[in-house]
Amino acid sequence: MQLTPSLARLVQELGRLPGIGEKTATRLAMFILNSDRSYAENLAEAIWAVKTETTLCQECFSLAEGDLCAVCRDPQRTEETLCVVEEPADQMAVERIHDFHGRYHVLHGVLAPLDGIGPEELTITPLLERLKRGHTQEVIVATNPTVEGEATALYLAKQIKPLGIRVSRIAHGIPMGGDVEYIDSVTLGRAIEGRRDM
Ligand code: ZN
Repeated sequence: MQLTPSLARLVQELGRLPGIGEKTATRLAMFILNSDRSYAENLAEAIWAVKTETTLCQECFSLAEGDLCAVCRDPQRTEETLCVVEEPADQMAVERIHDFHGRYHVLHGVLAPLDGIGPEELTITPLLERLKRGHTQEVIVATNPTVEGEATALYLAKQIKPLGIRVSRIAHGIPMGGDVEYIDSVTLGRAIEGRRDM
């Protein structure tokens, strides 16, 4: 079947989404074409809204709408324990355990000197400033158990421990090379329970 130019364009754009091949992209495009006009409008608007309304939390650098994210706005969450993660998706994974009542700090990457990613490219300076306010007793480093994730954890421990704050690292259950984002909640919950001092 020869696609019309607008369908071909939609298939091409949908095909850029992760995990979507040309066949699935074509199926999705046909679904959108055949659905109500209001669905297509809502979908287009939802995509646009996520790009225009999403900001980074000024406190923890997780995703937010406005100055602060939902966790940092929540008075029930404590600043006493901070969980440091690589990406917002990792924060969402830890949130799914429903067992962590502290707050977060999102690094937006890991140290990778060979790729030119040093401490200044991450949110490490704001993290240290945040810790110097003195409300935090423990930092749980939940970077991925990769070479870069481990190196970042060690770097953070070296910076944070002199502030008199306990630094722990998630441990058991997460395989080397694993990805915090995709670990099931039970394993991740156990990993946080089994964290060790650094
Ligand atoms: Zn926040």
